Amino acid sequence: MSNGKTSNMRKREVVGDFINNEWRSSGAAETLDVVNPATAEVLGRVPLGTAAEVAQAAEAAGRAFPGWRRTPAVERVQYLFRLKQFMETAFEDVSRSITVECGKTLDESRAEMRRAIENVEIACGIPQLMQGYNSEDIAPGIDETMIRQPVGVSAIICPFNFPGMIPFWYMPYALACGNPVIVKPSEKVPLTMQLIFKLLEQAGFPPGVVNLVNGAREAVDAILDHPAVRAVSFVGSTAVAKHVYSRATANGKRAQCQGGAKNAVVVLPDAEMDMATKIIADSAFGCAGQRCLAVSLVITVGEARQVFTESICNAAAKRVVGNGLEAGVQMGPVISAASKQRIESLIGKGRGEGASVPVDGRGARIPGYENGFFVKPTILVDLPPHGEVARTEIFGPVLGLMHVETLDEALTFINSSEYGNQASLFTSSGTAARRFRYEAQAGNIGINIGVAAPMAFFPFSGWKESFFGDLHGQGLDAVEFFTQKKVVIERWPKEWTRRF
Ligand code: NAD
Repeated sequence: MSNGKTSNMRKREVVGDFINNEWRSSGAAETLDVVNPATAEVLGRVPLGTAAEVAQAAEAAGRAFPGWRRTPAVERVQYLFRLKQFMETAFEDVSRSITVECGKTLDESRAEMRRAIENVEIACGIPQLMQGYNSEDIAPGIDETMIRQPVGVSAIICPFNFPGMIPFWYMPYALACGNPVIVKPSEKVPLTMQLIFKLLEQAGFPPGVVNLVNGAREAVDAILDHPAVRAVSFVGSTAVAKHVYSRATANGKRAQCQGGAKNAVVVLPDAEMDMATKIIADSAFGCAGQRCLAVSLVITVGEARQVFTESICNAAAKRVVGNGLEAGVQMGPVISAASKQRIESLIGKGRGEGASVPVDGRGARIPGYENGFFVKPTILVDLPPHGEVARTEIFGPVLGLMHVETLDEALTFINSSEYGNQASLFTSSGTAARRFRYEAQAGNIGINIGVAAPMAFFPFSGWKESFFGDLHGQGLDAVEFFTQKKVVIERWPKEWTRRF
């Protein structure tokens, strides 16, 4: 078929689902090719799972729930301790799998897996993290206690850009709190979760506690509609995040949905320019710009304009682009031919809106990888602030530059964005830094930081159209999300205690 769908008669291996501790072939009739974006080689096929596979997983998870929640927290975390060890042992294999199916460099994949493991480590503290609290004698002889209990079967729906890490913003906490999980990876990058689920299998979770279903839109909608699923964690584009949030909550589930972004960084004239350039280039072009915390716009203030424009153009032009598996490569391909085409068309649109393109990454040809989906680093100078490109998530290695005269103007622009994932400031002024931290309307703030990615023991925030819900992934927010609070009030009259 011309849209990339294949009939399931082709010989390439189809990835499996993992349900009730068994690897199963999906009953789905349709499959998609899984493609290495550096080479365009087909790596395997992914089934487009349907409501039938989701129901099997949800029912298995539902059956596992009573036993898993009764397993003491100190025992539940033993599975996670084992998982961590298996993840350390398989670290290089899993990192390589991320690079092969997603395109980022091996070092970027390793960093991703480090954060995944960190989340397992933090969730191992659950015996203490999920404790409740109590008050004795709220009235004579009456005590009140808050207990945290697991919320129930929890589903995790993932995007393509962090195939190893993003499931771990949620999964370790859900499991540690006593919830069975269903993971639905992105259909573009299903291979890494195959490896991770082999590690989960090795860790020996009871049947039905960890489940993997492959698929796309149909599988997601089935998750959102299945009554056994009580909580949904989603990461992806804003349009789909809105859909998932509204359908999940309309069906009475709790939901936390991370969406898209358009992150701006402000460079003040007192910034340390060499450091700012290096960090901003890493943020804009790292992972080929396919990060929800990638800097997409730089707003230079006053005299910062000239020096920063020159230095960032040099840094962009020098970046080594190629197959992420090869040593010395600093940036890999984007995820697909369609993505490359969309990014190149947005570069053209930026030019049409009046920006100049002193570094133009369109039409990139990487020797030996002529079929790969490469876009080289691109700089759009004097991007009009009210044009479409200054407001659209590009999700590629394209950095737009804009200029203003004051920090006030920069903040006004940032706060007018529909997104609120990240905003950063480069400065040596504590006063400017404090003002920015205080006033910028974004959930993750960087001061002299290009990718303000929260450690596992902080929530991965996001505001406005970048997040729908109340509680975020990671850390204490995740513990709150994966537990429901029960309040118990007990009366033990004094007269009764006298009997003993
Ligand atoms: P996507 O929205 O296309 O897909 C995400 C998931 O939703 C996938 O599992 C996919 O199968 C499913 N899906 C896609 N269309 C659907 C539909 N119509 N109905 C139901 N389910 C559907 O996102 P992507 O392209 O895989 O990932 C890139 C996006 O994710 C970017 O917008 C990026 O900013 C965002 N992202 C955000 C964060 C964050 O923390 N805010 C982190 C990573 C990625």
